[in-house]
Amino acid sequence: MASSILNDLSKKIQKKEISPVELLNGYLKQIDRHDSKINAFIEVDREQALEAARESEKRIQAGKSLSPYDGIPVGIKDNIVVKGRRSTCASKILEGFISPYSATVVDKLTNQGMIPMGRLNMDEFAMGSSTENSAFKKTCNPYDLERAPGGSSGGSAAAIAADYLPVTLGSDTGGSIRQPAAFTGIVGLKPTYGTVSRYGLIAFASSLDQIGPFTRYASDNEIMYNIMKGPDSKDATSIPESMYKIPSYDMKSLKIGVPRELLEGLSPEVKKSFDQVLDFLAKEVVSKDQIVDVDLPHQKYGIAVYYLTATSEASANLARFDGVRYGNRVKDIKDLNELYEKNRTHGFGPEVKRRILLGTYALSSGYYDAFYGKAQKTRTLIKQDYLTAFEKMDVILMPTAPSVPFKIGEKTSNPVEMYLSDVLTVGASLAGIPAISVPGPFEKLPVGIQIQGNYFSEKLIYELSKKIQTAFPSPMPVLA
Ligand code: GLN
Repeated sequence: MASSILNDLSKKIQKKEISPVELLNGYLKQIDRHDSKINAFIEVDREQALEAARESEKRIQAGKSLSPYDGIPVGIKDNIVVKGRRSTCASKILEGFISPYSATVVDKLTNQGMIPMGRLNMDEFAMGSSTENSAFKKTCNPYDLERAPGGSSGGSAAAIAADYLPVTLGSDTGGSIRQPAAFTGIVGLKPTYGTVSRYGLIAFASSLDQIGPFTRYASDNEIMYNIMKGPDSKDATSIPESMYKIPSYDMKSLKIGVPRELLEGLSPEVKKSFDQVLDFLAKEVVSKDQIVDVDLPHQKYGIAVYYLTATSEASANLARFDGVRYGNRVKDIKDLNELYEKNRTHGFGPEVKRRILLGTYALSSGYYDAFYGKAQKTRTLIKQDYLTAFEKMDVILMPTAPSVPFKIGEKTSNPVEMYLSDVLTVGASLAGIPAISVPGPFEKLPVGIQIQGNYFSEKLIYELSKKIQTAFPSPMPVLA
């Protein structure tokens, strides 16, 4: 049976072998011991979490648990708002902003009795692939402190790898859940677009953004996804459950596609791990002839389409941060224009500025058709390629990232090289299909295997992930 930390903890709590307060204190101790080096948290909500744990303890004593997961702590990426707590998106422009409401996903977790424990570091406004774009700190990879944990949800991923807590939430616009999960040897899902509410997720690129869970095991990830998903009247892009078309499948006759032509630039470690997984699947799960080549002819435009779409949407979404409504305001201002200019100049970091400029340019009249319009047409072709592929096969398998975790600082001077590390993840984001990263076999530095499926095929993706994870258990990082 697949391992589950959530079910193990749940049993212990319900049998009163451990209390929510004891559990929380254990995790706080681990954070205190290691986070001065790893820097996963922007803020730990010690007092609030302890208070919530005491409440949970009372419910459990009285036999009134809200759910089997009552008393289990969760960590939240700092772009998902929690009522009464700061949310900064790791940006100076939002310093001092306290959220007047909670995101729908946060409400769903607290309705189960789960305890928000603090907010986790990320690339500023979720723009990046290494968490180095945070305005506050650089998060280190628990497997090697000199290496990046991936991004943009690097804090959420490092927190799971370092055993700070059993579940964290992240957001994925072009790979920001899957790539950090791959870099830290854990499991992260980007759900089917529209199945998890975006209400309370500070928008980066609204047609791509999705919230998803990070956990050590695929079985726990599935538990979390099932709690988090569902329609929400507060999110106009959320899909009514009656419209979920869940594809049927049979594990024995499963067809797995491999996009060979996309996989030419893999690093040797990634290639080796991916081949081992393919061998295992061909021997133990399906048969060799059920693993077929798949042609996704427009994927080669994925990075260009993604970076035009995401920056265009970001330039519009980030217009609201002007020093008038949210966060800090610079002092000694003469007029409104100066207010906007100074706040945005001081508040945003270089990557965010680069993207606002790029997006504004791509949307400007005269260039709109050539850039944004073209990108949208090509996005449709990328989606069509997937739909054609899923007529013949059930899932598509590839590594999550072309390399193992890179060194901190290695790619910061070359933004395009950083963008290229998303080459294998942006396709699923543009099409809106679900995709997971599950650890493949590795010795020192983690490798992630990505499973992409048709719309609403999360159940199948999880079933296959559990098989891979059971066959290749990851070595935990050794923390000094
Ligand atoms: N690395 C990609 C970017 O920088 C993806 C980010 C994300 O998914 N939030 O935009």
